[in-house]
Amino acid sequence: MKKIQMTTPIVEMDGDEMTRILWKMIKDELILPFVDLKSEYYDLGLPNRDKTNDQVTIDSARAAVKYGVAVKCATITPNAQRMDEYHLHKMWKSPNGTIRSIMDGTVFRAPITIPSIHPIVKNWEKPITIARHAYGDVYKSVEIRAEEAGTAKLVFEGKSGKTQEVKIHDFDGPGVIQGMHNTDKSIRSFAHSCFKFAVDTKQDLWFATKDTISKTYDARFRQIFQEVYDKEYKEQFEQLGITYFYTLIDDAVARVMRSKGGFIWACKNYDGDVMSDMLSTAFGSLAMMTSVLVSPEGKYEYEAAHGTVTRHYYRYLKGEETSTNPMATIFAWSGALRKRGEMDGIPELQHFGDALEAACFDTLNEGIATKDLVHLMEGVEAKQVNSADFIAAIRERLEKRLKA
Ligand code: NAP
Ligand code: MG
Repeated sequence: MKKIQMTTPIVEMDGDEMTRILWKMIKDELILPFVDLKSEYYDLGLPNRDKTNDQVTIDSARAAVKYGVAVKCATITPNAQRMDEYHLHKMWKSPNGTIRSIMDGTVFRAPITIPSIHPIVKNWEKPITIARHAYGDVYKSVEIRAEEAGTAKLVFEGKSGKTQEVKIHDFDGPGVIQGMHNTDKSIRSFAHSCFKFAVDTKQDLWFATKDTISKTYDARFRQIFQEVYDKEYKEQFEQLGITYFYTLIDDAVARVMRSKGGFIWACKNYDGDVMSDMLSTAFGSLAMMTSVLVSPEGKYEYEAAHGTVTRHYYRYLKGEETSTNPMATIFAWSGALRKRGEMDGIPELQHFGDALEAACFDTLNEGIATKDLVHLMEGVEAKQVNSADFIAAIRERLEKRLKA
Protein backbone atom coordinates (compact mmCIF):
# COMPACT_ATOMS: atom_id res chain seq x y z
CA MET A 1 0.00 0.00 0.00
CA LYS A 2 1.38 3.42 -0.93
CA LYS A 3 1.61 5.75 2.05
CA ILE A 4 -0.48 8.92 2.04
CA GLN A 5 1.65 12.02 1.40
CA MET A 6 1.31 15.26 3.36
CA THR A 7 2.35 18.78 2.39
CA THR A 8 2.22 20.79 5.65
CA PRO A 9 3.32 19.35 9.00
CA ILE A 10 0.97 18.88 11.92
CA VAL A 11 2.27 19.97 15.30
CA GLU A 12 2.75 16.94 17.51
CA MET A 13 2.73 17.55 21.27
CA ASP A 14 3.83 14.45 23.18
CA GLY A 15 2.88 14.05 26.83
CA ASP A 16 3.09 11.96 29.98
CA GLU A 17 2.52 8.63 31.68
CA MET A 18 0.03 6.09 30.32
CA THR A 19 -1.11 8.36 27.50
CA ARG A 20 2.53 8.72 26.38
CA ILE A 21 2.71 4.93 26.14
CA LEU A 22 -0.54 4.84 24.14
CA TRP A 23 0.70 7.70 21.96
CA LYS A 24 3.62 5.64 20.67
CA MET A 25 1.46 2.55 20.15
CA ILE A 26 -1.09 4.59 18.17
CA LYS A 27 1.59 6.16 16.00
CA ASP A 28 3.43 2.89 15.34
CA GLU A 29 0.35 0.78 14.62
CA LEU A 30 -2.30 3.14 13.28
CA ILE A 31 -0.58 6.14 11.69
CA LEU A 32 2.98 5.49 10.45
CA PRO A 33 2.20 2.33 8.39
CA PHE A 34 -0.36 4.31 6.37
CA VAL A 35 0.70 7.95 6.36
CA ASP A 36 4.06 9.44 5.45
CA LEU A 37 3.71 11.58 8.56
CA LYS A 38 5.00 15.11 8.42
CA SER A 39 5.01 16.43 11.94
CA GLU A 40 6.86 19.03 13.94
CA TYR A 41 7.50 17.20 17.21
CA TYR A 42 7.47 18.86 20.64
CA ASP A 43 8.07 16.80 23.75
CA LEU A 44 5.70 18.21 26.38
CA GLY A 45 6.50 15.35 28.76
CA LEU A 46 7.14 16.83 32.21
CA PRO A 47 10.91 16.06 32.28
CA ASN A 48 11.43 18.02 29.06
CA ARG A 49 9.19 20.89 30.17
CA ASP A 50 11.35 21.12 33.28
CA LYS A 51 14.57 20.92 31.26
CA THR A 52 13.49 23.70 28.89
CA ASN A 53 11.96 25.93 31.58
CA ASP A 54 8.62 25.25 29.91
CA GLN A 55 9.82 26.98 26.73
CA VAL A 56 8.85 23.84 24.79
CA THR A 57 5.17 24.42 25.66
CA ILE A 58 5.30 28.00 24.43
CA ASP A 59 7.14 26.95 21.25
CA SER A 60 4.61 24.21 20.55
CA ALA A 61 1.68 26.61 20.92
CA ARG A 62 3.36 29.11 18.58
CA ALA A 63 3.90 26.31 16.07
CA ALA A 64 0.19 25.45 16.35
CA VAL A 65 -0.64 29.06 15.48
CA LYS A 66 1.82 28.93 12.56
CA TYR A 67 0.72 25.63 11.03
CA GLY A 68 -2.93 25.67 12.08
CA VAL A 69 -3.31 22.04 13.25
CA ALA A 70 -1.91 20.36 16.36
CA VAL A 71 -2.47 17.05 18.12
CA LYS A 72 -1.73 16.85 21.83
CA CYS A 73 -1.18 14.00 24.26
CA ALA A 74 -2.40 14.41 27.86
CA THR A 75 0.16 16.06 30.14
CA ILE A 76 0.73 16.29 33.87
CA THR A 77 -0.14 19.58 35.52
CA PRO A 78 2.39 19.64 38.36
CA ASN A 79 1.36 19.87 42.01
CA ALA A 80 3.44 19.49 45.19
CA GLN A 81 3.56 15.71 44.90
CA ARG A 82 4.77 15.90 41.27
CA MET A 83 7.53 18.35 42.33
CA ASP A 84 9.06 15.53 44.41
CA GLU A 85 8.25 12.73 41.99
CA TYR A 86 9.95 14.48 39.04
CA HIS A 87 12.47 16.63 40.99
CA LEU A 88 11.13 19.76 39.29
CA HIS A 89 12.77 23.18 39.39
CA LYS A 90 9.43 24.92 39.48
CA MET A 91 5.74 24.13 39.66
CA TRP A 92 5.14 24.69 35.95
CA LYS A 93 1.75 25.97 34.88
CA SER A 94 -0.84 23.79 33.18
CA PRO A 95 0.30 23.27 29.56
CA ASN A 96 -3.30 23.45 28.42
CA GLY A 97 -3.66 26.85 30.09
CA THR A 98 -0.47 28.10 28.39
CA ILE A 99 -1.53 26.79 24.99
CA ARG A 100 -5.03 28.23 25.38
CA SER A 101 -3.72 31.67 26.26
CA ILE A 102 -1.41 31.70 23.21
CA MET A 103 -3.98 30.32 20.77
CA ASP A 104 -6.84 32.30 22.43
CA GLY A 105 -9.38 29.62 21.75
CA THR A 106 -12.55 27.94 22.86
CA VAL A 107 -12.59 24.30 23.93
CA PHE A 108 -15.21 22.03 22.36
CA ARG A 109 -15.88 18.72 24.07
CA ALA A 110 -17.86 15.96 22.45
CA PRO A 111 -18.55 12.35 23.43
CA ILE A 112 -17.77 9.47 21.05
CA THR A 113 -21.02 7.53 20.98
CA ILE A 114 -21.58 3.89 19.97
CA PRO A 115 -24.83 1.91 19.64
CA SER A 116 -24.00 -0.50 22.47
CA ILE A 117 -23.49 2.23 25.08
CA HIS A 118 -26.70 4.08 25.87
CA PRO A 119 -26.67 7.57 27.34
CA ILE A 120 -28.46 7.92 30.66
CA VAL A 121 -30.86 10.31 28.93
CA LYS A 122 -32.64 7.84 26.67
CA ASN A 123 -33.78 10.28 23.96
CA TRP A 124 -30.21 11.45 23.22
CA GLU A 125 -29.42 9.82 19.88
CA LYS A 126 -26.48 11.97 18.82
CA PRO A 127 -23.58 13.55 20.69
CA ILE A 128 -23.99 16.98 22.27
CA THR A 129 -20.90 19.19 22.04
CA ILE A 130 -20.20 21.72 24.77
CA ALA A 131 -18.36 24.92 23.93
CA ARG A 132 -17.16 26.61 27.09
CA HIS A 133 -16.05 30.23 27.21
CA ALA A 134 -12.67 30.09 28.90
CA TYR A 135 -12.23 33.65 30.16
CA GLY A 136 -13.57 35.81 32.97
CA ASP A 137 -16.83 36.02 34.95
CA VAL A 138 -16.65 34.39 38.37
CA TYR A 139 -13.24 32.82 37.52
CA LYS A 140 -11.64 36.26 37.49
CA SER A 141 -13.83 37.89 40.11
CA VAL A 142 -12.83 39.80 43.23
CA GLU A 143 -14.73 39.54 46.48
CA ILE A 144 -15.16 41.40 49.75
CA ARG A 145 -16.48 40.15 53.04
CA ALA A 146 -18.32 43.11 54.60
CA GLU A 147 -18.03 42.81 58.36
CA GLU A 148 -20.50 45.54 59.26
CA ALA A 149 -23.28 47.77 57.95
CA GLY A 150 -22.27 50.09 55.11
CA THR A 151 -22.67 50.90 51.43
CA ALA A 152 -21.18 48.93 48.52
CA LYS A 153 -20.62 50.70 45.19
CA LEU A 154 -19.45 49.71 41.73
CA VAL A 155 -17.13 52.32 40.21
CA PHE A 156 -15.60 52.52 36.75
CA GLU A 157 -12.96 55.18 36.04
CA GLY A 158 -12.68 55.61 32.27
CA LYS A 159 -9.38 56.54 30.58
CA SER A 160 -11.17 59.66 29.27
CA GLY A 161 -11.81 60.83 32.81
CA LYS A 162 -15.48 59.91 32.69
CA THR A 163 -16.60 57.97 35.75
CA GLN A 164 -19.58 55.64 36.17
CA GLU A 165 -20.88 54.71 39.59
CA VAL A 166 -23.80 52.61 40.83
CA LYS A 167 -24.81 51.59 44.31
CA ILE A 168 -24.72 47.82 44.82
CA HIS A 169 -26.43 47.69 48.18
CA ASP A 170 -26.96 49.48 51.48
CA PHE A 171 -25.98 46.84 54.02
CA ASP A 172 -27.67 47.05 57.42
CA GLY A 173 -25.34 44.33 58.69
CA PRO A 174 -22.50 42.03 57.49
CA GLY A 175 -22.60 40.42 54.04
CA VAL A 176 -20.63 39.51 50.93
CA ILE A 177 -19.85 41.41 47.70
CA GLN A 178 -18.46 40.22 44.37
CA GLY A 179 -17.17 42.09 41.33
CA MET A 180 -16.66 40.33 38.00
CA HIS A 181 -15.96 41.28 34.43
CA ASN A 182 -15.61 40.18 30.85
CA THR A 183 -14.39 41.97 27.73
CA ASP A 184 -16.08 42.54 24.37
CA LYS A 185 -12.92 41.19 22.73
CA SER A 186 -13.01 37.87 24.56
CA ILE A 187 -16.76 37.42 24.04
CA ARG A 188 -16.34 38.18 20.33
CA SER A 189 -13.51 35.62 20.00
CA PHE A 190 -15.71 33.07 21.75
CA ALA A 191 -18.57 33.81 19.35
CA HIS A 192 -16.31 33.45 16.27
CA SER A 193 -14.92 30.12 17.51
CA CYS A 194 -18.44 28.80 18.12
CA PHE A 195 -19.85 29.87 14.74
CA LYS A 196 -16.76 28.55 12.92
CA PHE A 197 -17.03 25.20 14.67
CA ALA A 198 -20.75 24.95 13.87
CA VAL A 199 -20.03 25.56 10.17
CA ASP A 200 -17.14 23.11 10.30
CA THR A 201 -19.14 20.30 11.84
CA LYS A 202 -22.46 21.28 10.20
CA GLN A 203 -24.36 21.33 13.46
CA ASP A 204 -26.85 23.80 14.95
CA LEU A 205 -25.49 26.18 17.56
CA TRP A 206 -27.37 26.94 20.78
CA PHE A 207 -26.38 29.75 23.11
CA ALA A 208 -27.98 30.72 26.37
CA THR A 209 -27.47 33.27 29.15
CA LYS A 210 -29.65 34.84 31.83
CA ASP A 211 -30.18 38.19 30.13
CA THR A 212 -33.66 38.68 31.60
CA ILE A 213 -31.97 39.15 34.98
CA SER A 214 -28.54 40.39 33.88
CA LYS A 215 -29.78 43.09 31.53
CA THR A 216 -26.36 44.61 30.78
CA TYR A 217 -23.76 41.91 31.43
CA ASP A 218 -25.42 38.82 29.98
CA ALA A 219 -27.24 40.95 27.43
CA ARG A 220 -23.84 41.98 26.06
CA PHE A 221 -23.06 38.31 25.37
CA ARG A 222 -26.36 37.93 23.51
CA GLN A 223 -25.80 41.12 21.48
CA ILE A 224 -22.26 40.23 20.45
CA PHE A 225 -23.26 36.72 19.36
CA GLN A 226 -26.15 38.16 17.33
CA GLU A 227 -23.95 40.85 15.74
CA VAL A 228 -21.23 38.36 14.78
CA TYR A 229 -23.83 35.94 13.43
CA ASP A 230 -25.71 38.51 11.32
CA LYS A 231 -22.55 40.05 9.92
CA GLU A 232 -20.37 37.03 9.19
CA TYR A 233 -22.11 33.67 9.45
CA LYS A 234 -25.81 33.99 8.65
CA GLU A 235 -25.39 33.23 4.96
CA GLN A 236 -23.14 30.20 5.56
CA PHE A 237 -25.58 28.84 8.13
CA GLU A 238 -28.49 29.23 5.71
CA GLN A 239 -26.56 27.54 2.92
CA LEU A 240 -25.70 24.60 5.18
CA GLY A 241 -29.25 24.39 6.55
CA ILE A 242 -28.10 24.82 10.15
CA THR A 243 -29.48 27.28 12.68
CA TYR A 244 -28.27 29.60 15.40
CA PHE A 245 -30.62 29.58 18.36
CA TYR A 246 -30.54 31.83 21.43
CA THR A 247 -32.57 31.20 24.56
CA LEU A 248 -32.45 31.57 28.35
CA ILE A 249 -30.14 29.19 30.21
CA ASP A 250 -32.93 27.51 32.20
CA ASP A 251 -34.95 26.99 29.03
CA ALA A 252 -31.82 25.61 27.33
CA VAL A 253 -31.34 23.03 30.08
CA ALA A 254 -34.91 21.82 29.70
CA ARG A 255 -34.61 21.65 25.91
CA VAL A 256 -31.28 19.80 26.07
CA MET A 257 -32.85 17.10 28.23
CA ARG A 258 -35.74 16.68 25.80
CA SER A 259 -33.57 16.85 22.65
CA LYS A 260 -32.22 14.11 20.41
CA GLY A 261 -28.74 15.68 20.59
CA GLY A 262 -26.62 16.50 17.56
CA PHE A 263 -25.87 20.19 18.25
CA ILE A 264 -23.32 22.48 19.85
CA TRP A 265 -24.20 24.09 23.13
CA ALA A 266 -22.21 27.29 23.76
CA CYS A 267 -21.97 28.08 27.46
CA LYS A 268 -20.64 30.96 29.52
CA ASN A 269 -17.64 30.01 31.64
CA TYR A 270 -19.48 28.81 34.76
CA ASP A 271 -22.33 27.15 32.88
CA GLY A 272 -19.79 25.27 30.75
CA ASP A 273 -17.87 24.08 33.80
CA VAL A 274 -21.00 22.60 35.34
CA MET A 275 -22.75 21.34 32.21
CA SER A 276 -19.72 19.62 30.65
CA ASP A 277 -19.35 17.28 33.63
CA MET A 278 -23.05 16.52 33.54
CA LEU A 279 -22.93 15.70 29.82
CA SER A 280 -19.79 13.57 29.92
CA THR A 281 -21.18 11.51 32.79
CA ALA A 282 -24.57 11.12 31.13
CA PHE A 283 -22.93 9.97 27.88
CA GLY A 284 -21.00 7.21 29.65
CA SER A 285 -17.24 7.52 29.97
CA LEU A 286 -14.44 10.06 30.35
CA ALA A 287 -12.28 7.86 28.14
CA MET A 288 -14.71 8.50 25.25
CA MET A 289 -14.66 12.29 25.43
CA THR A 290 -12.82 14.25 22.73
CA SER A 291 -11.66 17.80 23.02
CA VAL A 292 -10.59 20.38 20.46
CA LEU A 293 -9.36 23.91 20.99
CA VAL A 294 -10.44 26.23 18.17
CA SER A 295 -8.98 29.71 17.90
CA PRO A 296 -11.00 32.64 16.52
CA GLU A 297 -8.67 32.59 13.49
CA GLY A 298 -9.56 28.95 12.84
CA LYS A 299 -6.48 27.13 14.23
CA TYR A 300 -7.09 23.72 15.80
CA GLU A 301 -5.55 21.69 18.61
CA TYR A 302 -6.98 18.18 19.11
CA GLU A 303 -6.69 16.10 22.27
CA ALA A 304 -8.46 13.69 24.60
CA ALA A 305 -10.50 15.21 27.42
CA HIS A 306 -9.04 12.82 30.01
CA GLY A 307 -5.68 13.05 31.78
CA THR A 308 -2.57 10.89 31.78
CA VAL A 309 -4.33 7.97 33.57
CA THR A 310 -1.73 7.82 36.33
CA ARG A 311 -3.20 4.84 38.17
CA HIS A 312 -2.85 2.65 35.08
CA TYR A 313 0.69 3.95 34.45
CA TYR A 314 1.91 2.89 37.89
CA ARG A 315 0.54 -0.58 37.19
CA TYR A 316 2.23 -0.57 33.77
CA LEU A 317 5.55 0.34 35.43
CA LYS A 318 5.20 -2.70 37.68
CA GLY A 319 4.93 -4.82 34.56
CA GLU A 320 1.19 -5.41 34.92
CA GLU A 321 -1.04 -5.55 31.87
CA THR A 322 -3.33 -2.54 31.46
CA SER A 323 -6.55 -2.11 29.56
CA THR A 324 -6.47 1.67 29.10
CA ASN A 325 -8.85 3.04 26.50
CA PRO A 326 -7.03 4.80 23.61
CA MET A 327 -10.23 5.93 21.80
CA ALA A 328 -10.14 9.65 22.65
CA THR A 329 -6.42 9.84 21.81
CA ILE A 330 -6.95 8.02 18.48
CA PHE A 331 -9.77 10.47 17.67
CA ALA A 332 -7.41 13.36 18.42
CA TRP A 333 -5.13 11.97 15.67
CA SER A 334 -7.93 11.26 13.22
CA GLY A 335 -9.40 14.72 13.81
CA ALA A 336 -6.05 16.45 13.30
CA LEU A 337 -5.14 14.49 10.15
CA ARG A 338 -8.59 15.02 8.64
CA LYS A 339 -8.38 18.76 9.34
CA ARG A 340 -4.87 18.90 7.82
CA GLY A 341 -6.20 17.13 4.74
CA GLU A 342 -9.11 19.54 4.53
CA MET A 343 -6.90 22.63 4.83
CA ASP A 344 -4.31 21.36 2.34
CA GLY A 345 -6.75 19.81 -0.13
CA ILE A 346 -5.58 16.20 0.38
CA PRO A 347 -8.73 14.04 0.16
CA GLU A 348 -6.78 10.80 0.90
CA LEU A 349 -5.78 12.24 4.27
CA GLN A 350 -9.36 13.26 5.04
CA HIS A 351 -10.51 9.80 4.04
CA PHE A 352 -7.84 8.26 6.26
CA GLY A 353 -9.21 10.17 9.28
CA ASP A 354 -12.70 8.84 8.52
CA ALA A 355 -11.44 5.28 7.95
CA LEU A 356 -9.50 5.25 11.22
CA GLU A 357 -12.61 6.29 13.16
CA ALA A 358 -14.74 3.78 11.27
CA ALA A 359 -12.23 1.01 12.15
CA CYS A 360 -12.54 1.96 15.83
CA PHE A 361 -16.33 1.69 15.58
CA ASP A 362 -16.05 -1.66 13.75
CA THR A 363 -13.93 -2.98 16.62
CA LEU A 364 -16.25 -1.77 19.38
CA ASN A 365 -19.38 -2.87 17.52
CA GLU A 366 -17.95 -6.39 17.47
CA GLY A 367 -17.71 -6.17 21.26
CA ILE A 368 -13.91 -5.90 21.42
CA ALA A 369 -13.29 -3.28 24.11
CA THR A 370 -11.14 -2.03 26.95
CA LYS A 371 -12.06 -2.66 30.57
CA ASP A 372 -13.79 0.67 31.19
CA LEU A 373 -16.33 0.03 28.42
CA VAL A 374 -17.00 -3.68 28.85
CA HIS A 375 -19.43 -3.23 31.76
CA LEU A 376 -21.28 -0.39 29.97
CA MET A 377 -21.98 -2.30 26.76
CA GLU A 378 -25.43 -3.74 26.03
CA GLY A 379 -26.67 -5.88 23.16
CA VAL A 380 -23.24 -7.22 22.16
CA GLU A 381 -21.11 -9.93 23.67
CA ALA A 382 -18.33 -7.78 25.10
CA LYS A 383 -14.81 -9.14 25.21
CA GLN A 384 -12.19 -7.36 27.32
CA VAL A 385 -8.75 -6.90 25.77
CA ASN A 386 -5.60 -5.01 26.78
CA SER A 387 -4.61 -1.74 25.09
CA ALA A 388 -2.15 -3.37 22.66
CA ASP A 389 -4.66 -6.00 21.51
CA PHE A 390 -7.37 -3.38 21.17
CA ILE A 391 -5.12 -1.28 18.94
CA ALA A 392 -4.12 -4.39 16.96
CA ALA A 393 -7.82 -5.18 16.38
CA ILE A 394 -8.37 -1.64 15.11
CA ARG A 395 -5.37 -1.95 12.79
CA GLU A 396 -6.76 -5.13 11.22
CA ARG A 397 -10.06 -3.41 10.50
CA LEU A 398 -8.36 -0.26 9.28
CA GLU A 399 -6.32 -2.26 6.75
CA LYS A 400 -9.53 -3.85 5.48
CA ARG A 401 -11.25 -0.49 5.13
CA LEU A 402 -8.30 1.12 3.34
CA LYS A 403 -8.10 -1.79 0.87
CA ALA A 404 -11.82 -1.66 0.10
P1 NAP B 1 -7.36 10.92 34.45
O1 NAP B 1 -6.01 10.72 33.94
O2 NAP B 1 -8.37 11.39 33.48
O3 NAP B 1 -7.85 9.56 35.08
C1 NAP B 1 -8.84 9.44 36.09
C2 NAP B 1 -9.45 8.04 36.07
O4 NAP B 1 -10.40 7.96 35.00
C3 NAP B 1 -8.45 6.93 35.79
O5 NAP B 1 -7.79 6.50 36.95
C4 NAP B 1 -9.35 5.88 35.17
O6 NAP B 1 -10.15 5.23 36.15
C5 NAP B 1 -10.30 6.72 34.34
N1 NAP B 1 -9.79 6.97 32.98
C6 NAP B 1 -9.45 8.17 32.41
N2 NAP B 1 -9.05 8.01 31.16
C7 NAP B 1 -9.12 6.68 30.89
C8 NAP B 1 -8.82 5.91 29.75
N3 NAP B 1 -8.36 6.46 28.63
N4 NAP B 1 -9.02 4.56 29.83
C9 NAP B 1 -9.48 3.98 30.95
N5 NAP B 1 -9.78 4.69 32.06
C10 NAP B 1 -9.60 6.02 32.04
O7 NAP B 1 -7.38 11.98 35.65
P2 NAP B 1 -6.42 12.12 36.94
O8 NAP B 1 -5.99 10.77 37.41
O9 NAP B 1 -7.15 13.02 37.84
O10 NAP B 1 -5.16 12.90 36.42
C11 NAP B 1 -3.92 12.29 36.05
C12 NAP B 1 -2.98 13.35 35.51
O11 NAP B 1 -3.50 13.88 34.31
C13 NAP B 1 -2.76 14.52 36.44
O12 NAP B 1 -1.36 14.75 36.60
C14 NAP B 1 -3.41 15.71 35.73
O13 NAP B 1 -2.68 16.87 35.92
C15 NAP B 1 -3.40 15.28 34.31
N6 NAP B 1 -4.51 15.81 33.47
C16 NAP B 1 -4.20 16.24 32.22
C17 NAP B 1 -5.18 16.66 31.36
C18 NAP B 1 -4.78 17.12 29.98
O14 NAP B 1 -3.63 17.07 29.62
N7 NAP B 1 -5.71 17.56 29.18
C19 NAP B 1 -6.51 16.63 31.76
C20 NAP B 1 -6.82 16.15 33.03
C21 NAP B 1 -5.81 15.73 33.88
P3 NAP B 1 -9.73 3.84 36.87
O15 NAP B 1 -8.41 4.06 37.56
O16 NAP B 1 -10.88 3.63 37.80
O17 NAP B 1 -9.64 2.79 35.80
MG1 MG C 1 -15.00 21.51 36.45
